[in-house]
Amino acid sequence: MHTFSNIKNLQADLASGKISCEQLVQQSLNSIEEKKNLNAFLEVFTDSALAKAKTVDEKIKAGTAGKLAGVIVAIKDNICYKDHKVSASSKILDNFTSLYNATVVERLLAQDAIIIGRTNCDEFAMGSSNENSAFGNVLNSVNEKCVPGGSSGGSAVAVASGMAHVGLGSDTGGSIRQPASFCGVVGFKPTYGRVSRWGLIAYASSFDQIGPLTKNVEDAAIITEIMAGKDEHDGTVSSKPVPSYSEEIKEYSSKPKIAYLKDCLESDGLDPEIKKRMNEVIEKYRADGYTVEGVDFPYLDYLVPAYYVLTTAEASSNLSRFSGVHYGHRSKNATDLESTYKKSRGEGFGAEVKRRIMLGTFVLSAGYYNAYYSKGQKVRRLLRDKTLNIFNEYDIILTPSTPGPAFEFGKNSADPIKMYLEDIFTVQANLTGIPAISVPAGRTNTGLPYGIQFMAKPFEESLLLGFSKNFEEKFPF
Ligand code: GLN
Repeated sequence: MHTFSNIKNLQADLASGKISCEQLVQQSLNSIEEKKNLNAFLEVFTDSALAKAKTVDEKIKAGTAGKLAGVIVAIKDNICYKDHKVSASSKILDNFTSLYNATVVERLLAQDAIIIGRTNCDEFAMGSSNENSAFGNVLNSVNEKCVPGGSSGGSAVAVASGMAHVGLGSDTGGSIRQPASFCGVVGFKPTYGRVSRWGLIAYASSFDQIGPLTKNVEDAAIITEIMAGKDEHDGTVSSKPVPSYSEEIKEYSSKPKIAYLKDCLESDGLDPEIKKRMNEVIEKYRADGYTVEGVDFPYLDYLVPAYYVLTTAEASSNLSRFSGVHYGHRSKNATDLESTYKKSRGEGFGAEVKRRIMLGTFVLSAGYYNAYYSKGQKVRRLLRDKTLNIFNEYDIILTPSTPGPAFEFGKNSADPIKMYLEDIFTVQANLTGIPAISVPAGRTNTGLPYGIQFMAKPFEESLLLGFSKNFEEKFPF
């Protein structure tokens, strides 16, 4: 049995012949089978994973293997992998098979990563608990009574419980960082435009970013540097060169100036144990000679409303393509074109997705456009300006990742507003496009993990990852 610690050590074990890729895949398949009750995977790609493992084993022997040789990756079920099914955990994409690889998949495979399967998530990545999947809940492997977070819950559980070395998620408002926090792993959302969205099933295109869920910060750096960078298929990707994050974080030695948002730490909704821990972290940094100062950010109340107005608007447009005509589910009860649309969509989409399509269509409607969508855009601009202002004086913004640890199933289901407030600390980074990471920061006295979030200026991934790695060493859990 091979114990995974990080990608570098894994590569050393493969090079020395301690373990083979085929054995690693077998081990992962066994572990997925044993932990089936967690419902983290919607499908395991046994044949293609074993075939890839064989090829990579040969490449290792020949000395031609890529940087991710033998790394077992679980992909969220909204990322396309050619000739494999993808459903965004929705019935509407029933039986749909990807025609091409997402850019991130292409790049990971080119470096000899092995994709082990697709993971359960909230339908179309809409949710904070994984309770919105059409294929059942994912259980948190730390405490099975609790949600794993969402929407990339399956990927977080796959990594936390050792079924895969790395998970891919997408983060529109926290969907990588929040499940990472709930499951005790690292979750990283790069700057908007750093990683290609080609082959990601869109939720809200001006917010969505793909990123890794990993056991440690260094692995997140390795995966991100491979996925990031210019892509002719996605015009929103920056052509800025991608630094070698994993090299740059090694040389990291600076003491960045840290701001914490007073309004976050003083928020009534914040769990007292998390609050205490955040204050301890701040004190420790100060004791080590860092400048850590509280700053005012009196816009917390605007974050969640602006996020839900704008993302639902984009979702209503993005999801209009699921019409029952081109792909996925087509109602058997349809009699003409209009009933094909109505019935296919009515049967195919789940309740939360319908709620968001209706809300988004409403905020975009002629009579309400100015009052909601256009105002939301203005608020977004203001939030971006105010957030970037903080970076005129500070390098890092520190907040808790989430207001509390993982909650029990059903706790927020009846009240969407309560559920939406789970995203209060994570949506800022997506509204403003900045990079953000959740790093494990402790456990509650009931044993539930929670994370700390760090944010940095756009394209300051090296600083952010370097600082986070340093945090990991300073506060080991
Ligand atoms: N929980 C948030 C939502 O429901 C974030 C989702 C995401 O990042 N994909 O929209």
